Amino acid sequence: MRTPVIAGNWKMHNTVDESLKLVRELKPLVAGVGGVEIVVAPVFTALDAVSAEINDSNIALSSQNVFWEEKGAYTGEIAPGMLKDVGCTYAIIGHSERRQYFNETDETVNKRVKAALKAGLTPIMCVGETLEEREGGKTIEVVSRQVKGGLAGLGSAEIDKMIIAYEPVWAIGTGKTATPEQAEEVHADIRRLVGQIAGAGTAAGIRILYGGSVKPDNVDVLMSQSDIDGALVGGAALQADSFARIVKFETK
Ligand code: PEP
Repeated sequence: MRTPVIAGNWKMHNTVDESLKLVRELKPLVAGVGGVEIVVAPVFTALDAVSAEINDSNIALSSQNVFWEEKGAYTGEIAPGMLKDVGCTYAIIGHSERRQYFNETDETVNKRVKAALKAGLTPIMCVGETLEEREGGKTIEVVSRQVKGGLAGLGSAEIDKMIIAYEPVWAIGTGKTATPEQAEEVHADIRRLVGQIAGAGTAAGIRILYGGSVKPDNVDVLMSQSDIDGALVGGAALQADSFARIVKFETK
């Protein structure tokens, strides 16, 4: 049984006060919801305040990125241990916006994943193809390369602790969601690939989230697919009521 994960990526939105307001609205809406891991990923500056606010709740904290060194002369970077220090238990790694705007590569994703695991953070490793790649029939090739690159050098005991998020770039923030069938096809391929890399047990247990314009009105059908184990949510995570509805998805 894979426990579903619903994670809200707040991206570069919300001051500390705005973040607190959002999480204060969210808490009562999801209080008592069990059987799902609920995660929010505020900006770095709001992590500490949000952490204190969710301390006694069923909501967990994630960063939106993490650096691979423990400390040193790396101006502007944040180490895994520093994220643990403020209460993070998850770290989003390799989001397509980081790959697109900040030169993130499969190699740097792999370094971040390893560092996060070493520090005891659960990596939410993002993969996904661009529209051009999908239209060129390269979806599986691209996603396989990203999965293999991100997991390079890791054993099954480490991969067991990870989460993978499949986020087609053309569906992020665009209102265009992959159809449940399109998403399921790639999720099943990712699971097969994880099986080849780390064995059947790891493949059966790993959570694979879908991301890309997940909303209250499409979450149920997405979550009804057998290989979709949760959602990484951007825009719809910025409103407490819509995120809470996504957390309370119903499978058919
Ligand atoms: C995301 O940021 O990971 C995302 C999927 O965004 P959105 O839900 O807005 O498409």
